[in-house]
Amino acid sequence: MTDLEKIFQVIEKNRNNMITLQKELTKVPAMAPQNGGDGEWEKSQVLMQWLDKCGIPNVERINAIDERVSSGRRPNIIATIPGESTDKTFWIMTHLDVVPPGDTKLWDSDPFTVIEKKGCLIGRGVEDNQQSLIASLYAAASILEAGFMPHYTVKLLFVADEETGSEYGIKYLLDNYKLFRKKDFILVPDGGNEQGTMIEIAEKSILWLQFRTVGRQCHASAPDHGINAFLAASELVLQLNKLNEEYKEEDPIFDPPVSTFSPTKKEANVPNVNTIPGDDIFYMDCRILPSIDLDQVLQRITEIMSHIDKKYGVQSAYTIIQRASSPATPADAPIVHTLKHAIKNIYNVEGKEKGIGGGTVAAPLRRKGYDTVVWSKIDDTAHSPNEYCVIDNMVGDSKVMADIMMKGI
Ligand SMILES: [Zn+2]
Repeated sequence: MTDLEKIFQVIEKNRNNMITLQKELTKVPAMAPQNGGDGEWEKSQVLMQWLDKCGIPNVERINAIDERVSSGRRPNIIATIPGESTDKTFWIMTHLDVVPPGDTKLWDSDPFTVIEKKGCLIGRGVEDNQQSLIASLYAAASILEAGFMPHYTVKLLFVADEETGSEYGIKYLLDNYKLFRKKDFILVPDGGNEQGTMIEIAEKSILWLQFRTVGRQCHASAPDHGINAFLAASELVLQLNKLNEEYKEEDPIFDPPVSTFSPTKKEANVPNVNTIPGDDIFYMDCRILPSIDLDQVLQRITEIMSHIDKKYGVQSAYTIIQRASSPATPADAPIVHTLKHAIKNIYNVEGKEKGIGGGTVAAPLRRKGYDTVVWSKIDDTAHSPNEYCVIDNMVGDSKVMADIMMKGI
């Protein structure tokens, strides 16, 4: 039997411990104050005890001050497992917080009491992100229990505040501490697909814009006395929609492979039918390939607006509601390669690099220049009623993580 096989055996033996930890963690809902919760402190206490029980003594807690929660602190925990080499560190970052259950009538059971059914665990947080949190903990604990040492230093990072912006979590750590080195590799197991094949290495840039068009209000029986802001805005929407044809560049790792520009929300203008609106507001959601410069896109949008302004005599302006972009982790980064090997070894499937349209917690890491991949084998029930975790996925993912910890990169 190989060393790795021995470790996998220990992971299997720990299956029930992993299930018990799911139950213990779910009992202490760690919701952000803006979601009506009291933060992650109590849950972090449970986790600290468990790390101690698993023989992982080297644990530090970095607290971000937050007066809104009763402890006054949002905890970030780092558990370090020394490796044979200190050249690099293999980080696995998971988050402690959970989202609220939503309408509890949509749940078949109490969201904060885990029940086991047909090989699954059901409860708020069991998939997002406890499946991976526990998988990482037991990957490291099982290596130690089997009497081995990881190849490189392993650091398990359990962060706060992932669901509500990461200001007290990873962004706080990146802004105030020098934890990572450029040659480190980071796995964020907080996204994936049912087959375990999706390796997320890039995100489209997000640009949310509000467009306000100002004309002149008047009685609708004499439209010439005013300037119809709604009419001008309607042409502006159609012109902006043509950006979809203008930006044709494709990147096959994304689905869809192109940038998208979508008019979305529309605010009410006048309350009655017989008034020409002098003010109109709508919004656009743009998801733009990381290779495209957002300032250039905004420049193009300004040109389109000035054309409409001239044609209709209105004044239009945009406000940026959200702007975020991050560089892609290269498809040939060592972490991608090693992860693919491990996925093949455990699940016998081929991992595939993917880009996504939404923002994840990997973005702030990539912005600082750290190669980060997002991967896990999940049914993606996060944030839904009856959220569940497939126990085999939790155990399998733990083996994938152990495989990487033992082989290094
Ligand atoms: Zn998550």
